[in-house]
Amino acid sequence: MTKRYELSELIRNDNFIDGQWVAAAKGNRFDVTNPATGEVIAQVADSDAADAHAATDAAARAFPTWRDTLPKDRAAVLHRWHALIVENADGLGRLISLEQGKPFSEGRGEVMYGASYVAWFADEATRIYGDIIPQQQRGKRMSAVKEPVGVVAAITPWNFPLAMIARKIAPALAAGCTVVGKPAEDTPLTAFALVMLAHEAGVPAGVLNLISASRENAVPAVADWLADSRVRKITFTGSTRVGKYLARESAGTLKKLSLELGGNAPFIVFDDADLDAAVTGLLAAKFRNGGQTCVSPNRVYVQSGVYERFADMLATRVAALKVAPATDPAAQIGPMINAPAIDKIARHVDDAASRGARVLTGGKRLPELGPNYYAPTVLADATPEMQLSCDETFGPIVPLFHFDDEAEAILAANDTLSGLASYFYSQDMRRIDRVTRQLEAGIVGINEGALASEAAPFGGVKESGYGREGSKYGLDDYLSIKYLCQGGLE
Ligand code: ADP
Repeated sequence: MTKRYELSELIRNDNFIDGQWVAAAKGNRFDVTNPATGEVIAQVADSDAADAHAATDAAARAFPTWRDTLPKDRAAVLHRWHALIVENADGLGRLISLEQGKPFSEGRGEVMYGASYVAWFADEATRIYGDIIPQQQRGKRMSAVKEPVGVVAAITPWNFPLAMIARKIAPALAAGCTVVGKPAEDTPLTAFALVMLAHEAGVPAGVLNLISASRENAVPAVADWLADSRVRKITFTGSTRVGKYLARESAGTLKKLSLELGGNAPFIVFDDADLDAAVTGLLAAKFRNGGQTCVSPNRVYVQSGVYERFADMLATRVAALKVAPATDPAAQIGPMINAPAIDKIARHVDDAASRGARVLTGGKRLPELGPNYYAPTVLADATPEMQLSCDETFGPIVPLFHFDDEAEAILAANDTLSGLASYFYSQDMRRIDRVTRQLEAGIVGINEGALASEAAPFGGVKESGYGREGSKYGLDDYLSIKYLCQGGLE
């Protein structure tokens, strides 16, 4: 039997270290607020280097025993955790809405999505195969086995407070690693609730540790992990700027790294596309989480023959989207996460308009709803000089660029340092093959806007990072290969 908790019981405000809920060593706290209203939801531990270090001590102590726990026993714990998450999907979904702002249907959807990674990696725990290498010399036997890398530090962003951390913790625990984690300062509560359920599922003390910190104190806390040679790996989802910092600073102890960084996804609509399907796909890809998603299309390229028709069809559908707080069951787009986020969106739209973009719908804040709301926006006649073409907007803004031929579209799509997701719509199978091969991205949506799946490898190329989350490849990031050479067998 799994237990269903009330929302208030899911809210924890202390760190979780070595199986205990503990305040930050210095006793400091910071506010977590509801982005819809600015109200304080909880005051959580403001940890610093001492707390990060205590978490590493616990994880390092717990590692040998967890590493040697039978894979099927690790899998059983993860399956129990999965059952508890699913049982508490409503409460966790409400908690996500409360601290992050997304509509409840999306919050609940995120819970099920995050849970799917836990179930997936529970199964994968029992399938960590090695190789017996064909004999090269008489009397010698060679083989390769896979072992957990050790203590893993997981650092996550605010846009998917549950899924981002679940899809790091689950493969780490499946592989036999122990974890120290730090969720984003805007959304630590969901991560703590998840850890509470992991504890109840039977994850042993020290195997999973989580600390929260304000942006200011996150820097020394994470710096402690960066310098600590017991932390063998960092898995990070967040900005390219911070990803590069982690790569630089972890060089001192040569850690293994997985970096899932910013995207600047192109979405190409060719003249031969099914336009209804393209509009529907774009809406699904763009407006999930109000556009605050790293695989969200940031630049939409539309071929001249269908440009005006596509723009009209899209603007009509976007204008009908319901913007409201998560408490409104009809909400499709909630508030943006915080003041800097909404300021950036407004800056991008104003810059585009001042350089000649036409606002087909939206283009303004919605102060009547609250300070963090922005109207879903379609901008026609976007050009490469506009800020939104080279910088991820992370909001409900769709800029439409013109193009005439396929080569021009590919060139424009690839004209970015990022390479996470990309999308295109075409019904010509030869074109589909050509474009798929040429797009510089880790993920390609072909006549499809919804790409996420625990069974698929998620990750980028170029400055969107390296490593893959989910799929049969997802465990590799948490494993190292040990080569065994046994002699004297003649
Ligand atoms: P975003 O733009 O999505 O907020 P960030 O890269 O700024 O992305 O943040 C992602 C995660 O990295 C968060 O958990 C945040 O607290 C953490 N973080 C940000 N800056 C630093 C830093 N200098 N050192 C360590 N962690 C950081």
